[in-house]
Amino acid sequence: MEYKSEGICRFCLKTFAGSAMTRHLNTCKVKKKKDEQEAAKAKQKYPIYHIRISAGKYYWLHIEMKATSKLSTLDNFFRDIWLECCGHLSGFTINGVEYQDDFEQNDMNMFFGEQESKAMSTKLSQALSVGGKFNYEYDFGSTTHLEGKVLGLREGILKEPVKILVRNNPYVIKCEECGKNATDFCCECEISFCEECLSEHECGEDMALPIVNSPRMGVCGYCGESDSDNFYEEYNKNQ
Ligand SMILES: [Zn+2]
Ligand SMILES: [Zn+2]
Ligand SMILES: [Zn+2]
Repeated sequence: MEYKSEGICRFCLKTFAGSAMTRHLNTCKVKKKKDEQEAAKAKQKYPIYHIRISAGKYYWLHIEMKATSKLSTLDNFFRDIWLECCGHLSGFTINGVEYQDDFEQNDMNMFFGEQESKAMSTKLSQALSVGGKFNYEYDFGSTTHLEGKVLGLREGILKEPVKILVRNNPYVIKCEECGKNATDFCCECEISFCEECLSEHECGEDMALPIVNSPRMGVCGYCGESDSDNFYEEYNKNQ
């Protein structure tokens, strides 16, 4: 099934196709004005990256982050909004360099040959410049792959560690039995069900996971976005 991939700009509240979003954000007058107002009040401005992240063609995000933020902040953000099921390992690959935590350096070298590996405490600006791309993996068993690119840089301030500019709208997925809106996904059969049809499905409800707006829907035990308070708590601890 083909789904229309769209999102709502959080500044002007207009809807755009995913493919038109980069251009829109670069020219959105409401965003520009707000950025300028905030920057004018700021004592100290700093470089901010505009980053696009995608998982396949349906799931994508545009965010802004301080260029000096750590990769681990981005990792925590991905876990929070899209990925976290049971605390799996994760890692970035940027220009052939692996950035991971929780791995012994020696194991890493065995695992990845002689490839260089670094810690996630590395700053974004040390690993990526404008135009730079990265790959990210969550869970090295049932892996969810993300791709990202730094689209631009501006001087200003941010009130939050990761500012979401826009994300893809949730998709309305239909029950494959009756055509009503689906609520669950059977991981065994990889079929979507509404509540009613799921109760009659032979795999039972134990194999079902909720329909969520995430590339990790239906994988491992993923049940949807976590409470973002956790993210900010972790972030404040690590500053
Ligand atoms: Zn806009
Ligand atoms: Zn899991
Ligand atoms: Zn149904």
